Amino acid sequence: MKAEIITIGDELLIGQVIDTNSAWIGQRLTEVGIQLYQRTACGDNRKQILDSLHDAELRADIIILTGGLGPTNDDITKATLCEYFNTTLIENKIVKDWVCKIFNNKNLPMLESNLLQAMVPLNCEILFNRTGTAPGMWFNENNKIFISLPGVPFEMKTIFDEEVLPRIKQKFSLPSIFNRTINTVSIGESFLADKIKYIEDELPSHIKLAYLPSVNMVRLRLSAFGENKSLLEKEVNVFAEKIYFEIAEYIYGEGNDSLANSVGKLLMQNNKTVATAESCSGGYIAHQLTSVAGSSKFYLGSIIAYSYAIKESELGVSKNVLNTLGAVSEECVVQMAEGIFKKFNVDYAISASGIAGPDGGTNEKPVGTVWIAIATKEKTITKKSNFGENREYNIQKTSIVALDMLRKILLEL
Ligand code: ATP
Repeated sequence: MKAEIITIGDELLIGQVIDTNSAWIGQRLTEVGIQLYQRTACGDNRKQILDSLHDAELRADIIILTGGLGPTNDDITKATLCEYFNTTLIENKIVKDWVCKIFNNKNLPMLESNLLQAMVPLNCEILFNRTGTAPGMWFNENNKIFISLPGVPFEMKTIFDEEVLPRIKQKFSLPSIFNRTINTVSIGESFLADKIKYIEDELPSHIKLAYLPSVNMVRLRLSAFGENKSLLEKEVNVFAEKIYFEIAEYIYGEGNDSLANSVGKLLMQNNKTVATAESCSGGYIAHQLTSVAGSSKFYLGSIIAYSYAIKESELGVSKNVLNTLGAVSEECVVQMAEGIFKKFNVDYAISASGIAGPDGGTNEKPVGTVWIAIATKEKTITKKSNFGENREYNIQKTSIVALDMLRKILLEL
């Protein structure tokens, strides 16, 4: 069973809107065991849409389109689908009543163009859109399924879950699929691949291992396809256990777990608190920690000490350290961490100071040099990193390395 997605809209081609619809639909299809064979983005252009439909029909069993269903002149999907299927538009009473109801409820005048939403191709089945005026459409032609959905993501998602998936599940007997994603941190993709190569080599052909890298992190997704879901789950778990055995120290969670979430869980389990004193990361570590639901139980607060003066007055960093060694130094982050540790009376204090870039680097301390410290009751540990040239990555990496340092301390409890 193969599917293709065609997303329609000039805005997608010029990069004004990122095609999140395809990514979302791709995930949903994969979850139910349908292989997404190809994605195409095309403009609001009759020929491009016709060509894309023609090509997709040659390859796939299910073709899903999004976009171009609105009432404006550039929305030409319905007319083009009529041309493709050699049919015409007719008025659909259910859609017409629905559109009228929406405008009545909002006390808005009904424009001629709004009524056009009720005009649908003669050969389609309507997919009700309870969140908007443009209905989705289901076509069964030439033994293939064509599904046309609005471009607006929340409308598309609602129709997909409520109308499309149930129909697909009813029509096709889908294979079982089981996914397990293991999230790792602070180890590069190639080192990871080297460590678990022998496990990968043992995988049977119906179980695939995918590496999904992002900044300082790699997610490992094991996907199994077959008939019996519980059997697949058992098989995947055996390989997941082997992966845990080999690289346990780098694994911080699974699925949608974030690193901050895992750190937050460990803090809550151990009844511990944390505070942050940030320079180069400008509060990003605090942001990560406060993104965790329930963070008030473990996160006390932060001082963003960007200038020398604030480092000195609020955190007690000594003038001597700042003037002789500079703010990007081990001594400075130690004093920052110990300063906030005492001031906020926490169990753990994180500090970070570095050169985020793009300017400000020297031969001795190039852009990307970052010192991080974690103060605990017993000791203060430090780490120096060189993350590279990119300011945004430097800030993200600072937060990831700092949280991972704290995670490792918490795991030892
Ligand atoms: P409506 O009838 O509700 O206007 P439509 O089918 O006409 O829906 P479009 O006009 O194509 O939808 O797009 C509406 C908006 O939806 C776009 O401005 C864009 O913000 C968003 N959108 C469209 N396509 C995508 C996509 N593939 N991924 C993410 N967002 C999209």
